[in-house]
Amino acid sequence: MSFFNEPIITPIDNVIYRTTRGKTYRFLIKRDDLIHPSISGNKWRKLKYNLKLAQMKGFAGIASFGGAFSNHIAALSSLGHLTQTPTIGFIRGEHVDDANPTLQLAQNNGMKLIMLNRQDYRKRAERDFLTSLQQQHSDHFFVPEGGSNEAAQQGIAELADEINSQINFDRYAVAVGSGGTVSGLARHLPQHGIGIAVVNDTNLLQSLHSSYGSKLTLHYAHQLGRYGTTTDALNHFCLDFYGQTGVPIEPIYTGKLFYNLCYHRQELQLDDDEKLLVIHTGGLQGLKGLIYRQQISASDWSSVISTAAHSHNALATR
Ligand SMILES: *Cc1c(COP(=O)(O)O)cnc(C)c1O
Repeated sequence: MSFFNEPIITPIDNVIYRTTRGKTYRFLIKRDDLIHPSISGNKWRKLKYNLKLAQMKGFAGIASFGGAFSNHIAALSSLGHLTQTPTIGFIRGEHVDDANPTLQLAQNNGMKLIMLNRQDYRKRAERDFLTSLQQQHSDHFFVPEGGSNEAAQQGIAELADEINSQINFDRYAVAVGSGGTVSGLARHLPQHGIGIAVVNDTNLLQSLHSSYGSKLTLHYAHQLGRYGTTTDALNHFCLDFYGQTGVPIEPIYTGKLFYNLCYHRQELQLDDDEKLLVIHTGGLQGLKGLIYRQQISASDWSSVISTAAHSHNALATR
């Protein structure tokens, strides 16, 4: 119960990055990647009130959905381990790949993994399908894929309040997956936001646009690989960004975000003197999955990974 009660305020860093075109940009970075060593960034924010709600409603455990390399599944399993809460992960795929680092972590954390084939996984938010899963696991509180639900919004509202108490800025920018984080921020921050979508989901983008269009510029991260994948240019960018700023980023979410903020500035109508706050949503556990899938090389990324693994500890001394 006390797990989320420690007061944690993540710092805001001020960095300068020089692009390959010789332009220099200043970013304020809300370092939510530092919030916890294994429950990273926005997943910590979104799970906080889901755990409280599950406990309040008397559920023994928490169940949720994710892909085989999901940051949400990794985070939920760690939360389960740290709070002795049973967890179930419904994973997209045919069988558990024991060599997959995310699924290994989840299993070591005691998460029960149940595989769903593609057809079933597609039904994860359909009422009848969900009800039947809930009936089979009635002692578990069900959280949707990505952790984005009303309880999650409470945690994102706290992030918004925290940001407002820390700094003045013109606009904020954040990576968009299931949309829970950006919609919470758009609801609770008075400033205009930029959402960089890493999933090509036109329904989601349309619904975000119709709800928050007046406060939000949405942009799809083209040309940087499909969801969950990367490109050579993006890998190079992430490593260079880390080399110049010391801030570790990864290709699936935060790398696509910063890349667009550097190289698609016109579409985003970014002014060079605008004070931009970028939300670092964490996700660095995903690097291990990219190494496993041979999309990045372990040797190139070793210092990013080791910085990410140790940087939470440095939070106390800042
Ligand atoms: C899950 C995740 C996101 C996406 O957040 P949503 O609330 O699903 O839009 C962004 N960044 C990182 C690092 C994530 O792990």
